[in-house]
Amino acid sequence: MQTIFADMRTGIDKEQMARAGEILRSGGLVAFPTETVYGLGANALDADAAAKIYRAKGRPSDNPLIVHIADMEALYQIAAEVPEKARALAAWFWPGPLTMIFKKKDCVPKTTTGGLDTVAVRMPDHAVALQLIREGGGFVAAPSANASGRPSPTKASHVAEDMAGKIDMIIDGGDVGIGVESTILDLSGDIPMILRPGYVNQDMLQKVIGEVTADPALFSADPKEPPKAPGMKYRHYAPKAEMLIVEGAQEAVVSHIRRLAQEELERGGKPGVIASEETKEHYAGIVRCMGSRQDELSISRHLYAVLRELDEQNVTKIFSEAFDTPVLGQAIMNRLLRAAGHQIVKV
Ligand code: AMP
Ligand code: MG
Repeated sequence: MQTIFADMRTGIDKEQMARAGEILRSGGLVAFPTETVYGLGANALDADAAAKIYRAKGRPSDNPLIVHIADMEALYQIAAEVPEKARALAAWFWPGPLTMIFKKKDCVPKTTTGGLDTVAVRMPDHAVALQLIREGGGFVAAPSANASGRPSPTKASHVAEDMAGKIDMIIDGGDVGIGVESTILDLSGDIPMILRPGYVNQDMLQKVIGEVTADPALFSADPKEPPKAPGMKYRHYAPKAEMLIVEGAQEAVVSHIRRLAQEELERGGKPGVIASEETKEHYAGIVRCMGSRQDELSISRHLYAVLRELDEQNVTKIFSEAFDTPVLGQAIMNRLLRAAGHQIVKV
């Protein structure tokens, strides 16, 4: 496996990018940066290549892949129907962190779509990703480049941890900008529905197309309500340690977490705390800061790295503050709740 570096200031080495494209066109796997998380790319129209993604990740075969494109023409080549609302959303949010689901054309193999007749499509807002998609033939299936069950990678070193020896190349473009996966929107029903919250939130979507709902299963632990995106039913990240989220006014949250951490210490355990810039000084021991509550992107950008770091520390319990921030709050809380197996207390 080769790692190549994409320097965002001096541009991308054309020869190396051509080699990466060649790997994709000949059915290989290339991990690459996007604005959300690192993706593990394969030719989306080649069933054998797509199958390699599932093998490398250890991903269940019913969990469909998102197809990444670099221009609108490509959408019409793989989507059987492109509703008016989808065209409006593409005009506003593409390239960007919004994935939309369409009825698929026959050229998209069912290996790519996890057996479904629909295909999820996104145009990423990242120069390296767009160039790679063009070099690689125009249609790149790319789930997050982590081993299944691990947190999504937000730096190239995370990809190397999970994928070394399993893929052909990593393109290192530095740390990602957003840090949580794209918003997934299903437009097949009467009212469009968010299947996975991301940076493009319900308000932003509603401003463009009117009413939008969210899958009720997203914030519920009730197993009778399976999420509509097949991948969302899998626990995204099972930290070795049990995790609990504490929600409420800042002072009450801090004192509750301090008490829980103290109790865990007294039991002979090793507590880990997920804090914010504003509160980190109030905790002792293993404390990881997500960022300032005044800067939501710093919080989303650090989330998965913090979860990986706490696992490396072999903590026995994780206590996390809640992060209901204005724009990214739904996306951040959805990921935290899944990491915590939906364990949350209000204080
Ligand atoms: P990842 O690329 O790892 O972020 O995961 C892709 C997510 O998109 C998973 O949760 C999938 O279940 C979801 N997804 C992909 N294609 C479809 C589809 N056709 N219908 C519903 N959900 C989809
Ligand atoms: Mg993923």
